[in-house]
Amino acid sequence: MSILVWFRNDLRLHDHEPLQAALKAGGGVIPVYCFDPRQFGETAFGFPKTGKFRAQFLLESVADLRRSLQQRGSDLIIRWGEPETVIPSLVKELDAQAVYWHEEATAEELAVENALADKLEAMGTTVQTYWGATLYHLDDLPFSINKVPEVFTQFRKQVEKSSIVYEPFSAPKKLPPLPQSASVGELPDLAKLGVEAPQSDDRAVLKFVGGETAGLARLQAYIWDADCLKVYKQTRNGMLGANYSSKFSAWLALGCLSPRWVYQAVQDYENERVRNDSTYWLVFELLWRDYFRLICLKHGDRVFYPSGLRGLKVDWQQDWPRFNAWCAGETGYPLVDANMRELAATGFMSNRGRQNVASFLTKNLGIDWRMGAEWFESLLVDYDVCSNWGNWNYTAGVGNDARGFRYFNIPKQAKDYDPQGDYVKHWLPALQRLPASKVHAPWQLSNVEQKRFEVRLGVDYPNPIVDLHKSVQANERIYNAALERSA
Ligand SMILES: Cc1cc2nc3c(=O)[nH]c(=O)nc-3n(C[C@H](O)[C@H](O)[C@H](O)COP(=O)(O)OP(=O)(O)OC[C@H]3O[C@@H](n4cnc5c(N)ncnc54)[C@H](O)[C@@H]3O)c2cc1C
Repeated sequence: MSILVWFRNDLRLHDHEPLQAALKAGGGVIPVYCFDPRQFGETAFGFPKTGKFRAQFLLESVADLRRSLQQRGSDLIIRWGEPETVIPSLVKELDAQAVYWHEEATAEELAVENALADKLEAMGTTVQTYWGATLYHLDDLPFSINKVPEVFTQFRKQVEKSSIVYEPFSAPKKLPPLPQSASVGELPDLAKLGVEAPQSDDRAVLKFVGGETAGLARLQAYIWDADCLKVYKQTRNGMLGANYSSKFSAWLALGCLSPRWVYQAVQDYENERVRNDSTYWLVFELLWRDYFRLICLKHGDRVFYPSGLRGLKVDWQQDWPRFNAWCAGETGYPLVDANMRELAATGFMSNRGRQNVASFLTKNLGIDWRMGAEWFESLLVDYDVCSNWGNWNYTAGVGNDARGFRYFNIPKQAKDYDPQGDYVKHWLPALQRLPASKVHAPWQLSNVEQKRFEVRLGVDYPNPIVDLHKSVQANERIYNAALERSA
């Protein structure tokens, strides 16, 4: 008996239950990856759905998976096409009796897997699906999926009390060869995907190389070699450099790293080196990831509605000139602009940055949060559908966050998290000569100061596109009106 294993956002050999189950069955194992053309189309607002940073990372990840499979005596069959068409025809061609895969949680992905399952079942092919994207397994939650608590803290407390993180599976050492008749197919290049090549940028926090091998190397580098885990809680709100946070997200998003594998590394570190609030905090953050995935699974496609999970009908604007200024890092607010330029140049932004720019877009500019979510979807190297749309819901105030209109005070955030202005200067060369006391509020510079610090407002660096205080007040009124309507 041969079993086809369909790889999706699980591009690894460690902790891969479908692969383990296929091996256990004792016959042939046929690993397959499909580049789905729909993933390389456009988002609703017209951005490339998979932008250049993630497309490159994906190609590297698939190439790495193929190498690892080859080293173990197998190979990866690669196809360009819709999985629900490609896989049934491979099943026929290679005479597979079953297809195994990891389940996803959101609408587009579920539509694909349901269509595939229907076709396979009609052909009499066995289908088996597995859950493998979260720390806590779906089968071991203390509640059913439709009872996942809406508030994160309640979710966290319940799983921490009642569930355990299963031990991860090790990568298989050997795999059976592919059937002789199988044509493995070529790995496409960026041009085939219709994506331009990204330029590397020396200012980036890290060179993100896709694949399980690079993901495991990053785990080793951050936790063990640089010994950063013990101070994670103190450094995680940073914005500059490779090690203020783990940078595991891109590998987790494509499944090159399994969260349970990361958890296991944290346990080992706690046993061998130190256990403290920082070691716990990395697991705490992974729980946010679990939470958003399970909440998305619970609520179907509501996370994508303009009114969000909460069903709140806020009068958002689709103001393209202002939105474009936000995307380009031309708002006149250095903390926002530096972060948006980092995203455009590298495909990455810190968590602190993401919270601030998302708050600015929705609470200062009053712009439709979905435009921001799609811009992130297009550019982020670590785009994860549930973490991205879940966090955007949350920041826009349409998520299941019960706290109403909350916004980030940008100048205060800048002072707290970039007191010397090192981060904004890193991305905004025009502000290079400003002293720390002035770098976060360039709009206050007098003509004399502009001369002295060699920056001309409106020429070298933009004037603010909105008044911070007035814009927050106006958007709070709009938000509260929506709350009243929904009461
Ligand atoms: C508006 C917005 C959009 C976001 N979009 C994404 C996204 O598309 N993909 C993504 O992986 N994360 C997203 N995040 C969450 C978070 O910003 C990133 O996971 C984090 O910055 C990645 O860096 P890191 O791996 O160094 O994180 P660390 O601080 O080292 O955290 C470790 C891991 O925990 C998880 N994690 C941490 N914070 C969060 C969070 N708030 N929500 C969910 N998981 C979290 C990630 O998997 C991360 O790799 C978003 C946050 C915001 C505010």
